[in-house]
Order: sequence, then C-alpha cells, then structure tokens
Amino acid sequence: MPQFETVIGLEVHAELNTASKIYCSCKNAFSREPNTQICPVCMGLPGALPVLNKKVVDYAIRMGHALHCRIRSVSRQDRKNYFYPDLPKAYQISQAQFPLCENGFLEIEADGIQRRVGIARIHIEEDAGKLLHDSACTGTLVDFNRCGVPLIEIVTQPDLRSSSEAKAFLDAIKFILRYLNISDCRMQEGSIRCDVNVSVRPVGSTEYGTRCEMKNVNSFSAAVRGIAYEAQRQIAILEAGGIVEQETRRWDDAAGRSVPMRSKEDAHDYRYFPEPDLLSIVVDEARVRMLYESLPELPDAKIRRYCREYGITREEAVQLAETPERAAYFDTCVMQAQCSAQSICNWLLADAAKYTNDTGIPISDTCMTPQRLTALIAAVEEGQISNSAGKTVFQEVLRQDKEPAQLIAALGLQQNSDSAALAQLIDTVLAANAKSVADYCRGKTNALGYLVGQCMKASGGTANPKMLREILIQKLE
Ligand code: ADP
Ligand code: MG
Ligand code: ZN
Repeated sequence: MPQFETVIGLEVHAELNTASKIYCSCKNAFSREPNTQICPVCMGLPGALPVLNKKVVDYAIRMGHALHCRIRSVSRQDRKNYFYPDLPKAYQISQAQFPLCENGFLEIEADGIQRRVGIARIHIEEDAGKLLHDSACTGTLVDFNRCGVPLIEIVTQPDLRSSSEAKAFLDAIKFILRYLNISDCRMQEGSIRCDVNVSVRPVGSTEYGTRCEMKNVNSFSAAVRGIAYEAQRQIAILEAGGIVEQETRRWDDAAGRSVPMRSKEDAHDYRYFPEPDLLSIVVDEARVRMLYESLPELPDAKIRRYCREYGITREEAVQLAETPERAAYFDTCVMQAQCSAQSICNWLLADAAKYTNDTGIPISDTCMTPQRLTALIAAVEEGQISNSAGKTVFQEVLRQDKEPAQLIAALGLQQNSDSAALAQLIDTVLAANAKSVADYCRGKTNALGYLVGQCMKASGGTANPKMLREILIQKLE
C-alpha cells in the first residue's frame, strides 16, 4: 500500500477595512441593522455607475508587497456572471485575467518544517450580500449591507502539504493583514473566509492528483478539520481502487464531513468579460514604491529581530508579536532602557497577558504605560521590592492609576536591604527559635528554610530575601 501525501491550495478572502465601499460612498462597517448601508450602486440598480475607491487599490498593493508579489502597472476589472439572491446585479465585479498582484510567496513554518508557499495572485473584488434564515418567517431574508464591501482574494499555489501548514499559512496571513491594518480579521463576522482545495498523491509522485474544492469553511480550525477529512476520504477512494472525481464540495463543520455541491460537468461558466463601466487600473511606479516604503516592520522580521537583539526564545518572540499593539508596547518598553528586555517579555507574557485574558482589555489600553511598567520592573530588578511585591504593585497601578514609586512607598513594600536592621531582626528570631537553631547545627538543613520563613514573617514580608538568607547563614555558622 503506498503512502499518500496531501496537496493543498488555498483561496483566502479578506474584507478590507476602508471607510467606504469599493464602488460607492456607502459606509463600510459591520451593522446589525439589515439594509441600512446601501445605495443604488451597491444594490446594482439599472443605470447606477461604479467609481473605484482608490484606497482599495492601495490596500491590495500593500498586501502584494508584503507577500513579495509583482504589482501590475495596468490591471483590469471583470464581470463574473452568476445568479444568486444575495447578488442583485447578477454579476460580481472581480479581476480575472489581469489581477493587480501576481507571483509572490510567503515563508511559513509548521511541525519544524520551513516552507515557501507560492502566491499565484491577489486580486480585488466586491463582496455579496447575506442570506438570513430567520425562524420567525417562513422564507429567507436578504441583507444587502455587505454588497460592495471591498475584498482581496489571495490565491496560493498548491504548495501546502498538511493541515498544520495550512493553519500556519492562514495565521500568517491574518498576522500580516493586522500589521498592515487593512483588515479587521474578525472571523465571526466573516471578514476572513477561505476555500480549500485538496488532492492526494502517492509519496514520491511528481504529478498532482485530482482536487476537490471545499466551500463554506468558516474558521481556521474548520479548515484544519476539513482538510484532514477530505484527504482521508480521497485516500480511501484510491485505496479501494477508485478514482477521485473533480468536484466542489461543501464542508459541514457540525457534522464533520464534506458533501458534494457540484461536479466538474456542471462547473460554473462565469462568462467573465471586461467591466465596461470601469477603466483599467493604472498605478504608476512612484506610487508602487511609495506604498512599499511605507510598509511597517512585518511579523516575521520582528520575530527574528526580537530573537537576535534580545536573546529571547522564538516562542516568546512569536507571542510578543501576536498583535501589532502588543509588539508596539514591547518596543516602547524596551526603548525606555530602564530594565532588561527579557524581564519586560516575562511580565508582558505573564501578568499583562493574564490581565488581558481576564478583562479583555489589552495592556496598551490601560493606565499601565510602558514608562510605569518598566519603572516597576526596574524596582524588582534592583532589589528595591521583591518579585511578589512587584506583582502587587502591578495590580495596584491598574486599580489606582498611580506611579509605581508612589505605591511602593504607600504600601510599605520597600524591601529592607539594611544589613544592620536585618541582623537585629534575625537575632530576635534566632533567640525565639532555639530548637530549630539546634536542629540546624546537628545537620538538619531543612531547619534553615523554617528560620528564613520566620524572619520573613517578622519583617512583614519586606526583607530582601537574598540578603536575609546570607546573613542568617553567617550567624548560624
Ligand atoms: P480555478 O481557476 O479553477 O479556481 P486554479 O488553478 O486557479 O483553479 O486553482 C485554484 C486553487 O486550487 C489554487 O489555490 C491552487 O493552488 C489549487 N490547486 C490547483 N491544483 C490543485 C491540486 N491538484 N491539489 C490541490 N490544490 C490545487
Ligand atoms: Mg477558484
Ligand atoms: Zn452603496
């Protein structure tokens, strides 16, 4: 029995967060109230004329640059004709033959394997409306708000080889969209969706097997489940001596399986033709270059820089770079040059992350400014306060909106590092614990822990633990 390899190609649709829609001035914003953000243009009423939103082109070019694409100086918009109730014009304006961006790539890593995934194209298009199946009425309702919302479609080469690679690719795309601030990437609202193409072939084969395209994949985890299911389904067919039919299937995530939608024979013929109401998109070289130069540091470069400059682990760097907000916060903290980058990393990934987890509020939106956090960390690093007192100060800054130094004084958390005072305190404790002292002298070393605890208690938790221990041992010896 041959071993099989899975081959995957993705078509990712991302809604762009421009202020207005792609061909009209309707607001581009998610709204609960159906059919409130529409006009004759996005409703496709006869005689209405589209005007291209220049921002959409800029956003798509930025993504093209981030994925190392060639940007076409002249590209075209085409009509993709099909009937569906959520598409009142009965065609979608998209790009067929001459997309805005082509021939790029994205490097990903999954299961310890590094892979360069080819990007066949990125084109711009308009979104369609949404059908609502409301239990309160017997029919189906249509909300046209989403008609004309700008989309980019990113099409990969069939270069992915496992569901975890597909997941890594999708995560990386989401990362980049967020860094470029061109999409909100809200999965629940459908602002990122993907179609998944899967085929299988015997390991070592150089030809691709017949693929199936899966639609209705609404989350990245659904993509992972869908790929695993589809690969197994195709392998079972081949192992039974059958052949895989090229078809479009619908992923049913609740049922955990895909079902046929249409076969190749009744494949759609969209009768693409150039959109007669719009001119070609012409972008001059200067604009393409300006957009390239305005790109921010992208997640991949940031992660590598964090590892290189600060000596933190890759896992830590990945977490720091998880959102542009957290990365920017970390960068600002490091620039304060008050404490080590590793400590900042530790506090951000532990205490700050926990706070965000519990409250849903990013640390960058709180009164814990990078200045305050680094002052607090510096106080711990310099031994002014203990680590656990530092955690208290962290909570109190967030609660009282005050400076760490103020809180340390007010709460009496200043660590006692006065050796004479510590020595005096230790003498009192030793006098009161003669039995433990005797135990220690007879070689029972665990008596030391007990005595440290007693001294700490006597100091109200403020004794500098390192000094306390040193002086105590000196006295006992
Ligand atoms: P179409 O024009 O029919 O949509 P494309 O050639 O543009 O077909 O491919 C669409 C998607 O299918 C791309 O993401 C591509 O990588 C993927 N794909 C093509 N061939 C295969 C295959 N044999 N196995 C898996 N994915 C494939
Ligand atoms: Mg396709
Ligand atoms: Zn409109």
